[in-house]
Amino acid sequence: MADSTNTAERLSPAVRAEALESLLAERGLVKSEVLDGFINRFVHDVGPMNGAKVVAKAWTDAEYRAQLLADGTGAIGQLGFAGPQGEHIVVVENSDDVHNVVVCTLCSCYPWPVLGLPPEWYKDPAYRSRMVREPRTLLSEMGLDLDDDVEVRVWDSSAENRYLVLPQRPEGTEDLSEEELASLVTRDAMVGVAKVGSD
Ligand code: FE
Repeated sequence: MADSTNTAERLSPAVRAEALESLLAERGLVKSEVLDGFINRFVHDVGPMNGAKVVAKAWTDAEYRAQLLADGTGAIGQLGFAGPQGEHIVVVENSDDVHNVVVCTLCSCYPWPVLGLPPEWYKDPAYRSRMVREPRTLLSEMGLDLDDDVEVRVWDSSAENRYLVLPQRPEGTEDLSEEELASLVTRDAMVGVAKVGSD
């Protein structure tokens, strides 16, 4: 989505989708609960599972990790994940010294091919302003307490760049397969509001 899109145009698809859903439900063609389930699945599972596969591969394949950090879009595309809002994905890596977190201060730019649709809180004006102004406080409120000596880097997504956080691989996971590792990686960790294995 271009950041210059005006509000009416941005709201339009949501309003249209709602109208369509009402019509389909009214005609008995689809149950609202089924649709809610489908959307939830897309938001929580299908989308973020792609990103989780990217992260798990980066954790287990040093060459891929280097490619991913040098050219996010290209390396992610190698795994078959591409499409709208995924044209310019920049991957930023967490370490013991640096914690990255992603926000879109203007609207809700988000790397769809690897994370699916953004959660409501990501679009919330409070998240968008506070993550820039007081990231440590907000992260702490969201359940992530960072040590004072960890540098917090806040990345502002835009039409030019969408960011994906490469979280740290948790300790004690040396024996896990790539697939098992992927199952540990959460959407929130890839936005940078959580760590993997800290739940
Ligand atoms: Fe945006």
